[in-house]
Amino acid sequence: MARSGVCRRSRDLEGVGTGMEKKEIDWSGLGFEYVQTDKRFVANYRNGAWDEGALSGDANVVINECAGVLQYSQSCFEGLKAYTTEDGRIVTFRPDMNGQRMEDSCKRLEMPVFPKEKFVEAVLQTVKANEAYVPPYGSGATLYIRPYMFASGSVIGVKPASEYQFRIFTTPVGPYFKGGAKPITIRVCDYDRAAPNGTGHIKAGLNYAMSLYAIVDAHKQGYDENMYLDAATRTKVEETGGANFLFITKDNKVVTPKSGSILPSITRRSLMYVAKEYLGLETEEREVYKEELTEFAECGLCGTAAVISPVGKIVDHGKEICLPSGMEAMGPVTQKLYDTLTGIQMGRIKAPEGWIQEIR
Ligand SMILES: *Cc1c(COP(=O)(O)O)cnc(C)c1O
Repeated sequence: MARSGVCRRSRDLEGVGTGMEKKEIDWSGLGFEYVQTDKRFVANYRNGAWDEGALSGDANVVINECAGVLQYSQSCFEGLKAYTTEDGRIVTFRPDMNGQRMEDSCKRLEMPVFPKEKFVEAVLQTVKANEAYVPPYGSGATLYIRPYMFASGSVIGVKPASEYQFRIFTTPVGPYFKGGAKPITIRVCDYDRAAPNGTGHIKAGLNYAMSLYAIVDAHKQGYDENMYLDAATRTKVEETGGANFLFITKDNKVVTPKSGSILPSITRRSLMYVAKEYLGLETEEREVYKEELTEFAECGLCGTAAVISPVGKIVDHGKEICLPSGMEAMGPVTQKLYDTLTGIQMGRIKAPEGWIQEIR
């Protein structure tokens, strides 16, 4: 059911008996593009304190021409999803982890912390206000939630601004893999993503601005993603522009790179837990050398958007490293990890304590 191209109107699927009509959207035909929804959360930081924050119907932001975000890119963001479970509840996945990570990002960028407890409340409130846009179970689509903060106060000398805005909007997004997860081809990248002791470990907008050149170039050369190496020695695997690596060894160990300049993915940390506690696999977070890549059986990229995208081939300056799992389908261990975590998120498998936050 719910393949892309099959136009199932939301009316046919949901909104019956819940007291809330779903919007008429072709859920499974959605891509990963911004679709404006009814409400967003807005809070302002002025005179050294956050206001209460409230939902707003206004999707536009008006700020001064000299706002810190426009001049010196003082901004950070988060990304998570709301899902309809098999039994019709609307839930989010570990929003407290996103709240904590945003606190960490704010501290590193000299921005005022928006407390994680309030962050979670605001996420739940925003999703609830946009319930009509939460895709139905089985459509493969989800409601993407984008919390973000930026310097709204004016600065011309280089220093932290004194005013900030924190906002959360939601947008429905389609199934990440239409017609099944096809393994991708990535290249070892000559550009660096993050410096040692830099900002690679926080979710700053600036980390993405400077990755655009490298990803556009990768696409031009026919690659789906960039594998970034550690900037200091260029011998160790870090991550891609927006996802962490998981590797499966030939004896079924789950390995993920350890580095101070990798963004701590919540999906990756959850998958490592699932590997150990649900699947009984051995797990290792350690330095992974580029030289080892030929020894792995499977490779995947993990992040909120896709959960896991399988990697079939890694190209290192003309040298092709073909993962034994091939170019047709996810490797067997990757598939088990994917099925278990999505099962937990969709309510088909019992979640660890505190992982699922219910909206209703
Ligand atoms: C957001 C992000 C990820 C994925 O993190 P999740 O919490 O799993 O969504 C990975 N790498 C980078 C650089 C990111 O910005």
